[in-house]
Amino acid sequence: MEVSKRLKSIPPYVFAEIAKKSQAAAARGVDVINLGIGDPDQPTPRHIVDAMHEALENPINHHYPPFGGTKEYKTAVAEWCKNRFGIDVDPNTEVTSLIGSKEGLHNTIMAFIDQGDINIIPDPGYPVYRTSTILAGGEPYFMPLTPENNFLPDFDAIPQAVLDKAKLLMISYPNNPTAGIADLAFFEKAVAFCKKHNILLCHDLAYSEMTYDGYKAPSIMEVKGAKDIAIELHSLSKSYNMTGWRIGFAIGNAEAIKAIGQIKSNIDTDIFRAIQMAAIAGFTGPTDHITFCNNLYVERRDLAVERLTKLGWPVKPIKATFYMWLPTPPGMSSAEFSNLMLDQAGIVVPPGVAYGPGGEGFFRMSLCVEKERLAEAFDRMAKHAITFDMAKAKV
Ligand SMILES: *Cc1c(COP(=O)(O)O)cnc(C)c1O
Repeated sequence: MEVSKRLKSIPPYVFAEIAKKSQAAAARGVDVINLGIGDPDQPTPRHIVDAMHEALENPINHHYPPFGGTKEYKTAVAEWCKNRFGIDVDPNTEVTSLIGSKEGLHNTIMAFIDQGDINIIPDPGYPVYRTSTILAGGEPYFMPLTPENNFLPDFDAIPQAVLDKAKLLMISYPNNPTAGIADLAFFEKAVAFCKKHNILLCHDLAYSEMTYDGYKAPSIMEVKGAKDIAIELHSLSKSYNMTGWRIGFAIGNAEAIKAIGQIKSNIDTDIFRAIQMAAIAGFTGPTDHITFCNNLYVERRDLAVERLTKLGWPVKPIKATFYMWLPTPPGMSSAEFSNLMLDQAGIVVPPGVAYGPGGEGFFRMSLCVEKERLAEAFDRMAKHAITFDMAKAKV
């Protein structure tokens, strides 16, 4: 048996490697603290679970769902978008359901990238941008995201030769893994740039509700004329604690939405109707769980900032997402640091390189564990003298 060249062509999945190591440590009796996952620790809100129970009892929902989402789901999406961002999308032509935005990202790439085409993506970035591009036979071009550029790419630095072959450009704010945020002015630049070069712009908005200190994340569709060139992928996973349910949606350019739907209808048969009903309950129901969870993340963030500062790290409080993107101690690669954290302190943190070559010199720490557990992680770092020496970093 031999797997496809396609499969062999994608880079090794760093997370699988980490999982293996952390399982081995747990088997040795180590009490592993996982600060690697991006999965909310709180349960799905009660009213969403209740709606699912009710929908399950109705046999109408047991059949194949329609392609692209039920009329009710797409209408609820459009209404939510109107209420949340003040934007208008036509539920019939400018909305499609997604089995989570990961699926949407892959199928957007499948719909637009041919052999030899370029997909312009952020580095570091969510790994799917890169791997799905390679699976499609295309080539990723990396836009560097650095603390110096506030994790916002410089579009003007993209060479003309790249633009000539580019079909797609992907951005994501609030950002995973850097927690960078973008304002409407940046989105305006992105829209104008992609219009000028006739490149589909895909905005991955997985963290729209996970924002703090009064910050509210905009939709790229708030930019005038964005629908001419852009789509935006949304997910209920993070904001509604629904990672396991697999539901999201895409909005925007009707031609692109249609193309994604064509790919999807040949591969999947949409989302279980009962899950769509539950998601509608999420869109239309109370939002106090969002406030509750965001307060939890803020408490954890503040603890992390305080303790990391004590350990010498240069760290700023994040305004969105539940990720902290931190430099590795001077002289240490991201893989070395990740190994050190697990071997000495029993803490899992993904190395920055897992998110692209530009992630070298960084690691990601997520805030998906209870405050007490997080405090324990910092106690262990202090005990093993895992610190950041600012004086060494400056030379
Ligand atoms: C979590 C995440 C996704 C995937 O979300 P699902 O809807 O669960 O597939 C997509 N993009 C980014 C940036 C994410 O962090």
